[in-house]
Parts: sequence; C-alpha cells; structure tokens
Amino acid sequence: MYDEPTISNIQLERLTGFLKETFPVKVETRENILKFAKKDTAAKIASCRIFNPRKPYEKHHPSIDEILFEEANFEDTAKTENIIMYDGFELQKVLTELISNEEGSSDLFHIFFTNKLTCTYDCNDYRYHGRALIGANPSIISTTGIIEAPAKPREYYLDLISNYTQGINVESIKQKYKGTYLEYNDTRLSKIIEGYLLQAIFYFETGKEFCDKTECRLFNAHWQKDLLYSQLENGKLCETHQQVLKKLITR
Ligand SMILES: [Zn+2]
Repeated sequence: MYDEPTISNIQLERLTGFLKETFPVKVETRENILKFAKKDTAAKIASCRIFNPRKPYEKHHPSIDEILFEEANFEDTAKTENIIMYDGFELQKVLTELISNEEGSSDLFHIFFTNKLTCTYDCNDYRYHGRALIGANPSIISTTGIIEAPAKPREYYLDLISNYTQGINVESIKQKYKGTYLEYNDTRLSKIIEGYLLQAIFYFETGKEFCDKTECRLFNAHWQKDLLYSQLENGKLCETHQQVLKKLITR
C-alpha cells in the first residue's frame, strides 16, 4: 500500500493490521509513489484530466500550469479549490509505469491511495462517474471518490435547490445532514476503506469485486447511506462472501 500523505485519516498502519488479520499475507506500506516522480510523470498525469464528462477519454494536452500543479502535488503543496476529474484507467497506466519491471512481473499486489478524483466513462449513460476504486493491479483507492462518488441523501440536494432561490446557505444544510454522509477529514474514513481494500483484493483474486447485498462489505454503494450501512453499521461480509474468503485464505 502506497500512502497518500495529504489524507491522514487513511491510517495506513491501521489498515495494515486489518489486512494481516484478514489474509495470511505480508503487507508492506510505502511512501506515495509520486514522491520521487519526475516532470514527465507530472505531464502524463495532467493529460489524464477530464474536461467534458459527457465525452469518452481524449488525451488532454496539458498547459505548463497544469504540469506545475501536478509537480507541486508530488511535494504535497498544491492547493486547489475545485475538484479535478481524472480518467481512472489512464491514471492507473501512469502509476503502473512507476513500478519497477522486476516488481511488475512478480506476484505483488500494489494498492495506491490518492486524493485525486478517479472517474470512469460509462457507456450505458454516456458519461463519466466518480469512482472510489479502480480495480486492477495496481489498484487505486480514491479518498475523494469515496466522499464524492456515492450520492448524499436526496433530501440534501432538494434542500440545496429549494434554498438556492432564497440565497443559499450551504453550511446550514450541511449541518442538518451531518453524519449521514462522509466529509473530508472524516475519522470514519479508515474503517470505510477496509471495504474497498476487500473489493480490490476480491477482484484481483476472483475477477468479481462487488456483491448485490447491502449486508456485505463488497456492496457497490451508490448512496452514502448505503456505504455507511454496509461498511460501518453492518461491517462484515455476507454469508456467501465469507465462504469465498475462507476458500481464498486456506488455498
Ligand atoms: Zn457478499
């Protein structure tokens, strides 16, 4: 697992403990792989940006500022007010290049954490959607994706819209729904990430990452409410997947 130093609530050490308890494997934590990256990597990452969510990926030709922004990100000093969308699979390709050939051909499983919003284009509705997990080896877990991709309560959006005409007070609406969705700097994040780690590993091992039961940590939550339920309130695998896990670890 490669750290994302800007998000302390990931708690890599805690997650290491979780993985070791769950799987009979060695777990290694590393610094963010971008820490030692060069300018050409910054340019490649900047070219993964999505500007039109209704169009499939087209390689973006980044400006100097966009490249400098990514470089500043390596040093963990970049600041932006807006959330930038990146094509998750393109980003995954760039990060894969940073793994040494020797490790790339070994049976190591790499998991990158990022605060970048990874997105994938969905051919069913012809648009990009935010994703918390890009499942592959290496896998990417996006903390911004966990917070932004599953939707907040419908009422939250309705309140936002109805208040819009009367002069919006986003803070009071946020306060009203506090706790019903994950926020930035949420201490529950690490526990939630455990579920995404399971999804990444199940996908790697079985080719399937999701379960259709909300009573399972492999549930692909589209709503924050369901995410909090399956990962915190319920917090375990369903019967079927407990059996799959058992087979995996006794193999
Ligand atoms: Zn299940």
